[in-house]
Amino acid sequence: MTGSLIIAGLGPGDDRLVTPEVVSALAEATDVVGYIPYVARVAPRAGLTLHPSDNRVELDRARAALAMAADGRRVVVVSSGDPGVFAMASAVFEALEGREDWQALDIRVLPGITAMLAAAAAVGAPLGHDFCCINLSDNLKPWEMIETRLRLAARADLAMAFYNPRSASRPEGFARTLEVLREECGSDRLVTFARAVSTPDERIATITLGEATPEMADMRTVVIVGNSATRRVGRWVYSPRRAG
Ligand code: SAH
Repeated sequence: MTGSLIIAGLGPGDDRLVTPEVVSALAEATDVVGYIPYVARVAPRAGLTLHPSDNRVELDRARAALAMAADGRRVVVVSSGDPGVFAMASAVFEALEGREDWQALDIRVLPGITAMLAAAAAVGAPLGHDFCCINLSDNLKPWEMIETRLRLAARADLAMAFYNPRSASRPEGFARTLEVLREECGSDRLVTFARAVSTPDERIATITLGEATPEMADMRTVVIVGNSATRRVGRWVYSPRRAG
């Protein structure tokens, strides 16, 4: 049997937001590998082995998945949202460095709906003009880099989507983020806190930076800060297509 490795995005939570392509890959898999809560979203069935693991060992998980594929198994590595957005796809490619045997395997990345797009759709179109996307966790980069990027993005008048807004290792980071943003954007700028989008725990609110407090975000929240033109219309929030 020829092995394969698919790195698949499960979307933000709702089963209807899993693409048909990912559903087929899961139906044909012999093994599913991933962080515990993501593997829990895959229904068990005969012939499928689930390999849930802890999130802090991404590179080990990628290597284990590649070793199984090299052994002839049809492995699917699952991420939430899109696997290329702060998730497993990069870990798998990093594990391929220097491994020509693994580079010869049948490897594919299947996209998914990433959290910021599900959140933006839920409130309107706050990412309708130019935007950027920043991971606020300082696990894999220094805080100074995050702060520089925040300031430059704000000065470029980009809308911003923040993932991992309050990392367990540095809870004060998000408080600092809000201070930097108030300095750069003023306190009237619109900000959307979207928690657990498309799940039964979903909670979404749009307020101003002046009203925002650090406790409004946790690790299940994606935060979207508008650009200077982002506005409300009726019960929605949008960024106009035209700028300047
Ligand atoms: N690959 C994922 C992101 C993984 S990083 C994706 O593309 O969505 C984990 C972060 O994603 C969380 O801290 C949170 O900021 C965001 N996130 C993931 N699912 C979410 C959801 N359903 N609602 C809101 N934010 C979510």
